[in-house]
Amino acid sequence: MSYRGRFAPSPTGPLHAGSLVSALASFLDARAHGGSWIVRIEDVDAPRTVPGAADEILATLAHFGMHSDEAPVWQSARGDAYQAAFERLQTAGFIYPCGCTRREIADSLVHAHARHATLAYPGTCRDGLHGKPARAWRLRVPDGDAAVITFVDRWQGPQTQNLATEVGDFALKRADGLWAYQLAVVVDDADASITHIVRGADLLDSTARQIYLQQCLGVPTPAYLHVDVVNNDAGEKLSKQTGAAPLDRHAPLEALVEAARHLGIHVSAGSLDAFYSAATAEWAKRFAR
Ligand code: GLU
Repeated sequence: MSYRGRFAPSPTGPLHAGSLVSALASFLDARAHGGSWIVRIEDVDAPRTVPGAADEILATLAHFGMHSDEAPVWQSARGDAYQAAFERLQTAGFIYPCGCTRREIADSLVHAHARHATLAYPGTCRDGLHGKPARAWRLRVPDGDAAVITFVDRWQGPQTQNLATEVGDFALKRADGLWAYQLAVVVDDADASITHIVRGADLLDSTARQIYLQQCLGVPTPAYLHVDVVNNDAGEKLSKQTGAAPLDRHAPLEALVEAARHLGIHVSAGSLDAFYSAATAEWAKRFAR
């Protein structure tokens, strides 16, 4: 198996110290395995996309010495692939249309959870639309023991999630007509033959859904490694919403040394090249098996 990893930023703003940690971890893991590292611009959610942010992210990565080994993939250009996967799932009977409004779901909410699926869904439209117009399309999750997805995260250790009780049937096509993140990410990783996913622990909760969707589509499940997220002084995840400062392009080495420290890698280096060789060697000792 030849290692293929990726960094998949959403172009909602410039890179900051938190996203740098994910970028660096995925980059070091690819380098430590002698593999490829590919950047994917996750602009599937067009309303959240900030014009110019993707180019700025790519320029910042380059400035920091991280270059995609292949032409970056843009989700906005991959609609046909998402449609084809959607039709396969539809033909196989895995998905169904849902007519519930957000309000209706909120009223019958069992568990609030997860960044990407905003609300847990109680399965109201599983057996039909009850006269309502179709809004979203959902993937039917299994019942009973089959609903329990387990995997071993290379950083966080063994993980278990019961899709039926903790998640519910989740949307692959949203009520606004856009492809859901869960579908796009699984189709993109499979089409790019990604073998190793390294990203922030805020996505740990999405992983069981993605593994189940991989099984429905008959594509391989990559290895997962979720690094701890970087919090601000108030204990909130560093993000544009919590006021994270954009990376300073004039001081890449300082920011990289700091990001590496967050990953438990303590190196000092006088140049980007020296930094990457020292940090890759340290990463390899812990994670490249
Ligand atoms: N685009 C997602 C984010 O920026 C990352 C998705 C992934 O790595 O799977 O949070």
